[in-house]
Amino acid sequence: MIAVDGPAGSGKSTAARGVARALGLRYLDTGSTYRALTWWLLSRGADISDAGVVAASAGGPVIEVGTDPDAPAIRVDGTDVASQIRTREVSNAVSAVAAVPEVRRSLVAMQQRIIADVLAAGDGIVAEGRDIGTVVAPDAPVKVFLTASEVVRARRRTADLAADEAATVAVTRAEQAQRDRYDAPQMARAADAVEIDTTDLDLDEVISEIVALADGAGPGGRPAQTPRLRKAGAWST
Ligand code: C5P
Repeated sequence: MIAVDGPAGSGKSTAARGVARALGLRYLDTGSTYRALTWWLLSRGADISDAGVVAASAGGPVIEVGTDPDAPAIRVDGTDVASQIRTREVSNAVSAVAAVPEVRRSLVAMQQRIIADVLAAGDGIVAEGRDIGTVVAPDAPVKVFLTASEVVRARRRTADLAADEAATVAVTRAEQAQRDRYDAPQMARAADAVEIDTTDLDLDEVISEIVALADGAGPGGRPAQTPRLRKAGAWST
């Protein structure tokens, strides 16, 4: 099991997926579960600034998240919401939802069940988010905390936005700074996590660094056999 944490735009999703593919592990994007619940609330016109309303939603929709790194699926009440949860509207609302304790309890329990099922089946998993190494999987044998400069993070996220949602790097940077502030209480670097600053690294370098850490960690970190690394391509968050 490999835990990858870090702020928006640090490259953790792309890197975590790349590591999972390279090592033949499953992949869990915990952020997608918070986004899915946020999308559900917004689609019903709920007032997400009302913590009581948000708390009551925690047990509402059935959220299902897949663990295939080649096709990370996310469904709400049976509907595929993979693209809907990536809009700026959801990105700008998700932190308020994720800050509500009932939401965190419910989604962390779900994430822990998914990880436990994968491990019980004898597979390994790369899970990424904000609190994997500290709360979701504090016993993970490999923990990584990714960072990058604010401007590089904003550039990566801007490049990632769908054409109909185009924003300047400055706008993305401002939205990102606000999300950082909201997310600060949820995000912690575990004392035993290795920090990797991805500002000047390409994706393959980051993946190789994490794979090397997993190598050093032994059987809990990765499968005994070493699959050949595939060229992973470019950053996207
Ligand atoms: O990783 P991503 O940017 O998709 O996460 C979306 C939001 O979900 C974060 O801004 C944060 O508010 C929340 N989140 C969280 N804990 C996690 C993963 C994401 O609170 N483990």
